[in-house]
Amino acid sequence: MFIFIKGELKMDSMEDKTMSQVTVKDLMIPSEKVAHVQTNNPLEHALLVLVKTGYSAVPVLNSSYQLKGIIGKSIILNETLGLERFEFERLSEITVEEVMDTDIPVLHEHHSYIDGLKAVINDPFVCVVDNEQYFDGILTRRAILKQARNNYYLANQTTYQ
Ligand code: AMP
Repeated sequence: MFIFIKGELKMDSMEDKTMSQVTVKDLMIPSEKVAHVQTNNPLEHALLVLVKTGYSAVPVLNSSYQLKGIIGKSIILNETLGLERFEFERLSEITVEEVMDTDIPVLHEHHSYIDGLKAVINDPFVCVVDNEQYFDGILTRRAILKQARNNYYLANQTTYQ
Protein backbone atom coordinates (compact mmCIF):
# COMPACT_ATOMS: atom_id res chain seq x y z
CA MET A 1 0.00 0.00 0.00
CA PHE A 2 1.18 3.54 -0.76
CA ILE A 3 1.15 6.45 1.67
CA PHE A 4 2.29 10.06 1.61
CA ILE A 5 5.04 10.96 4.10
CA LYS A 6 6.27 14.57 4.13
CA GLY A 7 4.94 15.09 0.62
CA GLU A 8 6.70 12.00 -0.75
CA LEU A 9 4.89 8.88 -1.84
CA LYS A 10 6.25 5.79 -0.13
CA MET A 11 5.31 2.15 0.25
CA ASP A 12 4.54 1.19 3.83
CA SER A 13 4.64 -2.53 2.99
CA MET A 14 8.29 -2.31 1.96
CA GLU A 15 9.80 -0.58 4.93
CA ASP A 16 8.88 2.87 3.58
CA LYS A 17 11.04 2.63 0.50
CA THR A 18 10.54 5.10 -2.33
CA MET A 19 9.79 3.59 -5.73
CA SER A 20 13.30 4.07 -7.02
CA GLN A 21 14.64 2.11 -4.05
CA VAL A 22 12.61 -1.01 -4.74
CA THR A 23 14.94 -3.91 -5.54
CA VAL A 24 14.58 -7.45 -6.84
CA LYS A 25 14.90 -8.64 -3.23
CA ASP A 26 11.71 -6.76 -2.28
CA LEU A 27 9.68 -8.45 -5.02
CA MET A 28 11.14 -11.95 -5.34
CA ILE A 29 9.76 -15.22 -3.98
CA PRO A 30 12.43 -16.43 -1.50
CA SER A 31 14.15 -19.76 -2.13
CA GLU A 32 12.39 -21.58 0.71
CA LYS A 33 9.04 -21.00 -1.03
CA VAL A 34 10.21 -22.02 -4.50
CA ALA A 35 9.63 -25.56 -5.80
CA HIS A 36 12.79 -26.95 -7.41
CA VAL A 37 14.35 -30.18 -8.61
CA GLN A 38 17.93 -31.40 -8.39
CA THR A 39 20.37 -32.09 -11.21
CA ASN A 40 20.49 -35.83 -10.59
CA ASN A 41 16.72 -36.33 -10.37
CA PRO A 42 15.18 -38.46 -13.13
CA LEU A 43 12.83 -36.63 -15.51
CA GLU A 44 10.00 -38.73 -14.08
CA HIS A 45 10.41 -36.92 -10.74
CA ALA A 46 10.67 -33.50 -12.41
CA LEU A 47 7.44 -34.10 -14.36
CA LEU A 48 5.72 -35.17 -11.16
CA VAL A 49 6.80 -31.93 -9.42
CA LEU A 50 5.67 -29.82 -12.38
CA VAL A 51 2.27 -31.51 -12.67
CA LYS A 52 1.65 -31.46 -8.91
CA THR A 53 2.59 -27.79 -8.49
CA GLY A 54 0.96 -26.66 -11.74
CA TYR A 55 4.09 -24.72 -12.75
CA SER A 56 5.34 -24.86 -16.32
CA ALA A 57 9.01 -24.78 -15.28
CA VAL A 58 11.09 -24.81 -12.08
CA PRO A 59 14.74 -24.10 -11.18
CA VAL A 60 17.31 -26.91 -11.11
CA LEU A 61 19.79 -26.87 -8.21
CA ASN A 62 22.80 -29.01 -7.33
CA SER A 63 23.24 -30.64 -3.92
CA SER A 64 24.84 -27.40 -2.61
CA TYR A 65 21.77 -25.37 -3.68
CA GLN A 66 23.57 -23.62 -6.53
CA LEU A 67 21.52 -22.81 -9.61
CA LYS A 68 22.33 -25.03 -12.59
CA GLY A 69 19.40 -24.48 -14.97
CA ILE A 70 15.66 -24.63 -15.51
CA ILE A 71 13.51 -27.59 -16.47
CA GLY A 72 10.04 -27.28 -17.99
CA LYS A 73 7.19 -29.50 -19.14
CA SER A 74 7.84 -28.95 -22.83
CA ILE A 75 11.51 -30.08 -22.59
CA ILE A 76 10.40 -33.22 -20.75
CA LEU A 77 7.55 -34.05 -23.13
CA ASN A 78 9.90 -33.56 -26.04
CA GLU A 79 12.16 -36.28 -24.59
CA THR A 80 9.27 -38.75 -24.54
CA LEU A 81 8.43 -38.29 -28.22
CA GLY A 82 8.90 -41.58 -30.04
CA LEU A 83 8.14 -42.20 -33.69
CA GLU A 84 4.57 -43.32 -33.08
CA ARG A 85 3.77 -42.63 -29.45
CA PHE A 86 4.88 -40.93 -26.23
CA GLU A 87 7.49 -43.20 -24.61
CA PHE A 88 6.98 -42.26 -20.96
CA GLU A 89 9.11 -45.17 -19.76
CA ARG A 90 12.16 -43.19 -20.96
CA LEU A 91 11.60 -40.60 -18.21
CA SER A 92 13.15 -42.82 -15.53
CA GLU A 93 16.32 -43.28 -17.60
CA ILE A 94 17.16 -39.60 -18.24
CA THR A 95 18.35 -37.19 -15.53
CA VAL A 96 17.33 -33.54 -15.30
CA GLU A 97 20.88 -32.28 -15.94
CA GLU A 98 21.02 -34.09 -19.29
CA VAL A 99 18.23 -32.00 -20.81
CA MET A 100 17.73 -28.87 -18.64
CA ASP A 101 18.05 -25.41 -20.11
CA THR A 102 21.37 -23.94 -18.93
CA ASP A 103 21.35 -20.78 -21.04
CA ILE A 104 19.24 -18.74 -18.65
CA PRO A 105 19.31 -15.14 -17.45
CA VAL A 106 19.85 -14.46 -13.73
CA LEU A 107 19.31 -11.52 -11.42
CA HIS A 108 20.90 -10.50 -8.13
CA GLU A 109 18.96 -9.29 -5.09
CA HIS A 110 20.37 -5.75 -5.35
CA HIS A 111 19.14 -5.28 -8.93
CA SER A 112 16.55 -2.54 -9.41
CA TYR A 113 12.87 -2.83 -10.32
CA ILE A 114 13.62 -1.82 -13.92
CA ASP A 115 16.39 -4.47 -14.16
CA GLY A 116 13.79 -7.01 -13.04
CA LEU A 117 11.22 -5.71 -15.50
CA LYS A 118 13.64 -6.05 -18.42
CA ALA A 119 14.57 -9.57 -17.32
CA VAL A 120 10.99 -10.90 -17.27
CA ILE A 121 9.99 -9.53 -20.67
CA ASN A 122 11.07 -12.78 -22.32
CA ASP A 123 10.56 -15.20 -19.41
CA PRO A 124 7.68 -15.80 -16.97
CA PHE A 125 10.24 -15.96 -14.16
CA VAL A 126 13.95 -15.31 -13.68
CA CYS A 127 16.14 -16.89 -10.99
CA VAL A 128 17.91 -14.77 -8.39
CA VAL A 129 21.38 -15.90 -7.27
CA ASP A 130 24.33 -14.56 -5.28
CA ASN A 131 27.84 -14.08 -6.68
CA GLU A 132 28.61 -17.78 -6.25
CA GLN A 133 25.42 -18.91 -7.98
CA TYR A 134 23.76 -19.92 -4.69
CA PHE A 135 20.01 -19.80 -5.26
CA ASP A 136 18.16 -16.95 -3.51
CA GLY A 137 14.73 -17.15 -5.15
CA ILE A 138 12.80 -16.18 -8.28
CA LEU A 139 11.34 -12.99 -9.66
CA THR A 140 8.09 -13.62 -11.55
CA ARG A 141 6.51 -11.55 -14.28
CA ARG A 142 3.40 -11.51 -12.06
CA ALA A 143 5.29 -9.69 -9.26
CA ILE A 144 6.64 -7.13 -11.72
CA LEU A 145 3.17 -6.57 -13.22
CA LYS A 146 1.62 -6.12 -9.78
CA GLN A 147 4.24 -3.51 -9.02
CA ALA A 148 3.54 -1.83 -12.38
CA ARG A 149 -0.16 -1.73 -11.47
CA ASN A 150 0.72 -0.09 -8.17
CA ASN A 151 2.91 2.39 -10.03
CA TYR A 152 -0.07 3.24 -12.23
CA TYR A 153 -2.28 3.97 -9.23
CA LEU A 154 0.62 5.85 -7.69
CA ALA A 155 0.79 8.08 -10.77
CA ASN A 156 -2.93 8.74 -10.37
CA GLN A 157 -2.46 9.42 -6.67
CA THR A 158 -4.75 6.58 -5.68
CA THR A 159 -4.19 4.18 -2.83
CA TYR A 160 -4.44 0.58 -3.96
CA GLN A 161 -3.89 -2.69 -2.12
P1 AMP B 1 3.16 -16.96 -11.91
O1 AMP B 1 3.68 -15.59 -12.11
O2 AMP B 1 2.74 -17.25 -10.52
O3 AMP B 1 2.14 -17.34 -12.95
O4 AMP B 1 4.42 -17.93 -12.16
C1 AMP B 1 5.06 -17.97 -13.40
C2 AMP B 1 6.01 -19.13 -13.40
O5 AMP B 1 7.00 -18.92 -12.39
C3 AMP B 1 5.39 -20.49 -13.03
O6 AMP B 1 4.84 -21.17 -14.14
C4 AMP B 1 6.59 -21.24 -12.52
O7 AMP B 1 7.36 -21.69 -13.63
C5 AMP B 1 7.35 -20.15 -11.78
N1 AMP B 1 6.97 -20.09 -10.36
C6 AMP B 1 6.13 -19.21 -9.75
N2 AMP B 1 6.04 -19.46 -8.42
C7 AMP B 1 6.85 -20.52 -8.17
C8 AMP B 1 7.19 -21.27 -7.01
N3 AMP B 1 6.70 -20.97 -5.80
N4 AMP B 1 8.02 -22.34 -7.14
C9 AMP B 1 8.55 -22.65 -8.36
N5 AMP B 1 8.28 -21.98 -9.51
C10 AMP B 1 7.43 -20.94 -9.42
